Order: sequence, then structure tokens, then C-alpha cells
Amino acid sequence: MPDDCIFCKIANKTIPVPPVYEDDEFFAFNDLNPQAPVHVLLVPKTHFTDILDIDDAALLGRGLKAVGAVAQALGLSTNGFRVVTNTGSYGGQSVFHLHFHLLGGRPMGWPPG
Ligand code: AMP
Repeated sequence: MPDDCIFCKIANKTIPVPPVYEDDEFFAFNDLNPQAPVHVLLVPKTHFTDILDIDDAALLGRGLKAVGAVAQALGLSTNGFRVVTNTGSYGGQSVFHLHFHLLGGRPMGWPPG
């Protein structure tokens, strides 16, 4: 884990942040700069830079399953929601620890910016 990774510190509770969801492998918390009424980030507790850094496809599946569980728990399943994982500079990634954005509570536009 890089010493300066903010999401490692949040997931491993060096920086205390209220959990929205937690299991052995993942930690979810509210985005500091929400882009929708619901904007949750779900991160693996182990450091990976992005989806390209992961060999274990099942981990990605478990992450998406966990995002779905959070969405349901937050009441987003009726109207729907969006899950995003920005990757690299063109993808708009600004924190280089893999994370899924869960956005909901309003209609989403397409195409994204
Ligand atoms: P991305 O640009 O896809 O890498 O997303 C990074 C997200 O992390 C942005 O939406 C930021 O608002 C969010 N963020 C950065 N630092 C924190 C923090 N300390 N706590 C919660 N969210 C954060």
C-alpha cells in the first residue's frame, strides 16, 4: 500500500470516516464532494490502482455485488442508479485506489461529460 493513499487510510480506518457499508474485503463511505443526492464510494481494503491492476475477476464481481447491496439498502433499486469506475486520466480518475462510484437519487444524463 502506498503511504500516501487516502483511500487505504479510510478503508483501514487510519482516517475515521463513517461507514455506509463494510465487509471483510470492502469499505463504502460517502463522497466528500457529492455529485448526486446519493454518492457513495466503495473501495477494496487492499490497494489496487484501478481495474487494470486486478487479476482476480471474482474480486471485481464481489465489489459490484456489494455496490448493488448498498444501492438496495439505500432504496435506489426502484428508480435505478449509476455505478462508475473512472480509470486513468482520460477516464477522469483522481484517486488512484480502485473505487466504484454509486450515484443515485436523481436521473442521470448520457453521455457523461
Ligand atoms: P475519481 O475522480 O473517480 O478518482 O473519484 C475520486 C472521488 O473521491 C471524488 O469524487 C472525490 O470527491 C472523492 N474523495 C476524495 N477524497 C475524499 C475523501 N477524503 N473522502 C471522501 N471522498 C473523497
